[in-house]
Amino acid sequence: MPARKNAKSIYEDFNKIVANPVRQIKRLRTGAVRIIGWVPTDVPEELIHAAGALPIGIVALDNPAVSRSAPHMQAWSCSLMRCALGMALGGSFDLLNGLIIPVICDTTRMVTGIWKQTKPYVFMDNFLLPKQIDRPSAKDYLIGEMGRLKARLEQFMDRTITASELCESIKLYNYNRSIMRKLFSLHTCHPELLGNKDMYNIIKTSMLMPKELHTNMIAELLQMLEKKVDDNKSGGKKYNIRLLMSGKVWEPPEIMNILDSLGAVSVGDDFCTGYRYIANDVPETGEPLRSLAERQFSRLPIAAFAGKCGDRTNSIIRMVGETHADGVLFVHLRYCEPENFDYPMLRDDLSASGIPNFRIETEIGGLPVENYNEQIKTFIDSLGGGV
Ligand code: SF4
Repeated sequence: MPARKNAKSIYEDFNKIVANPVRQIKRLRTGAVRIIGWVPTDVPEELIHAAGALPIGIVALDNPAVSRSAPHMQAWSCSLMRCALGMALGGSFDLLNGLIIPVICDTTRMVTGIWKQTKPYVFMDNFLLPKQIDRPSAKDYLIGEMGRLKARLEQFMDRTITASELCESIKLYNYNRSIMRKLFSLHTCHPELLGNKDMYNIIKTSMLMPKELHTNMIAELLQMLEKKVDDNKSGGKKYNIRLLMSGKVWEPPEIMNILDSLGAVSVGDDFCTGYRYIANDVPETGEPLRSLAERQFSRLPIAAFAGKCGDRTNSIIRMVGETHADGVLFVHLRYCEPENFDYPMLRDDLSASGIPNFRIETEIGGLPVENYNEQIKTFIDSLGGGV
């Protein structure tokens, strides 16, 4: 791959991929590779990769597609799933060879049946994460579920996934996560070099590209940015507020543009399409299916996968301390039942701990972006920020 001239051109390449996931899928299908889509979140992509297929996250969304799912899904389903199904119905994912939908909430449970009826693919699977994750049997259950998914992939791909192939895929994914963490750390120290929108788009593209290629691109970018820091050439727009973000996904993506324009840097998050995606690695020793399950249990708690009551609050409070965040901005998708369930407790616990927090409720294809601008600005002003 020829070296690029500057960081901006790399950002542009990433941004183009996020802006047009359908073109990206077409591009990837020019080879003989089979592509298996996965719906957020927590599908073990390493298994798909080890089977010889290319995992692609259904994470770059096309807002107008939401309405296409209206005849099939209740209006009070979350817009993430309404949009994903709407895109499928519009043909956006016709080039996929298969799709894996994790069951993480009632909506994902329900959408699977609808998707199978309205837009079936040759290979479709539900990945069933445990619900009561504090039970001693939960990890063994998950190892079994990983094994079941592995067997189905083997059958579909007509090949065996060996332990050494799975270990190689784990190493590849771990390396990609580790280098992205370096980039994220540079983003939090030098947001003037790598702002919110570009950083979070980079994480998203990691779910839309072959990991090998993505790793090469971010390694090149990291080198360029580190050189700028070393040469003292990181000057630019000032960011004076540090926010910890929390929610399922950072949708709509314009939220990150708003933070950039208001001089607020996201120093961490528990978004499934954000820092949480790269925060933990899979242990590289031991039986690989067990290792995949172990990673799942060490991931940042989210509304749909948290242990005992209070685990998520403690996780957010710990992250606030570690990142020196000024406050927490919750970005909740309307009708996301797990988030709605967690929120009152999180709000009260954070407030009792003296951590300023604020919630915006978003909807893909919903309110005009300006609405969020005013709300976020008010919160940032209250933290003493604003540009
Ligand atoms: S967890 Fe929330 S955002 Fe995710 S699919 Fe379920 S309802 Fe939608």
